Amino acid sequence: MTDVIVVGAGISGAASAYELSRRGFKVTLLDRYSPAAMASGWTLAGVRQSGRHPAELPLATAAVERWIGLAGELDGETSYRRNGNLRLARTVDEVPVIQKLVAEQSAAGLELTLLTDTADIASVAPAVSDRVMAASWCPTDGSADPKATVLSYVQAAQRLGTVTRFGERALRIETASGRVTGVATDKGFIPADHVVVSAGIFGNDLLDPLGLAVPLQVPMVTVLRSAAQAPTLGPVIGVANADCAGRQEVNGRFRVTSGLETWHGDMESGPRDNGEIRPAVRPSMNSVAEVVRLFGTVVPAFKDARIDEVWAGLIDLTPDGLPVIEASADFEGLTIAMGFSGHGFCLGPVTGTIVADLVETKRTAMPITPFTLSRFRRQGAAFEPLALHG
Ligand SMILES: Cc1cc2nc3c(=O)[nH]c(=O)nc-3n(C[C@H](O)[C@H](O)[C@H](O)COP(=O)(O)OP(=O)(O)OC[C@H]3O[C@@H](n4cnc5c(N)ncnc54)[C@H](O)[C@@H]3O)c2cc1C
Repeated sequence: MTDVIVVGAGISGAASAYELSRRGFKVTLLDRYSPAAMASGWTLAGVRQSGRHPAELPLATAAVERWIGLAGELDGETSYRRNGNLRLARTVDEVPVIQKLVAEQSAAGLELTLLTDTADIASVAPAVSDRVMAASWCPTDGSADPKATVLSYVQAAQRLGTVTRFGERALRIETASGRVTGVATDKGFIPADHVVVSAGIFGNDLLDPLGLAVPLQVPMVTVLRSAAQAPTLGPVIGVANADCAGRQEVNGRFRVTSGLETWHGDMESGPRDNGEIRPAVRPSMNSVAEVVRLFGTVVPAFKDARIDEVWAGLIDLTPDGLPVIEASADFEGLTIAMGFSGHGFCLGPVTGTIVADLVETKRTAMPITPFTLSRFRRQGAAFEPLALHG
């Protein structure tokens, strides 16, 4: 018998399954593909507080504290490194954007410094072009290996008793008299009193029939990964208008992303070379060339690196760029954690804790009032212009 079915084994669902299992719940973690098959594998995997919306900053700060000991806690690999985040101003026009960011987030209590001297920027990141004019510097930001982290969560959850069912698709959440009763999948029916929807861009396939769809757009991001290079870049690099971002992984590979692009709508599903079943989205040559041009301008060594992999990722973007994290007021036993809008990787450890709190008591000490689904009924669902920050 299962107490809680968690739909989706990205970082949000895997962390939720782990936290729920720690608290003694009998958990089934379901994914139509493999763990980290979608956004949590496609991601840049920056673990950052800088550039966050004020409503998300407390969660990001709590998450960063948790990331420090996460590999030990999970007894697994995360490759988390606290190497900082530099957000660059490349032109005179971008300098005030960075100045404003530093002023606002410093006032909110974040350790964020404005660097206006090329030598200061070079001292934290010698690989950055000396044509950059200014930067914000957050030394407590960092990055991690996304697939390794999700797998570590899954394995830790399994050791605590979570049952994993991968390659199984949730088709419907069943309800009776306003209560969740289980999930119908393409392999049968799983009864349970609680269901967590952490299914990223596909979450609305399950919520729509219940009248609870989260307003979403699904933009695309192009990602390039190079072959291993000598380590030259410690921090994660972002830019003022978020049209590119990147970092060097612990294995020396550059992992670099575009800004938000329009998704062409195609997605292929099938086994990859390593036997994993996960979807693939292909970017255009034009966007690959643009990523090389833009990131190569700020980190010149990137242009000479050899290409290893190219892919595109999709983003579950809400109108205000903030997630939905709540215990549903409409259906007893339903918890929603989706719509992370391109920055949910860092939050994963805290998302897991919040979801477990909500399943257990419907309350949490974390400040999640800004993340209700009903805000879109009140404030409307017009999409604000948003950018993806590295
Ligand atoms: C290119 C890119 C760069 C990013 N950069 C950053 C960054 O630097 N920092 C950061 O914090 N965030 C970043 N993000 C965002 C971050 O990666 C996501 O917000 C986060 O991974 C979302 O995790 P999730 O578990 O909510 O969703 P996902 O990882 O998408 O997981 C959802 C899972 O649900 C499964 N699923 C869906 N429907 C069903 C169903 N019906 N039945 C069973 N399973 C189902 C899917 O197979 C999938 O595995 C980036 C995202 C992208 C794409």
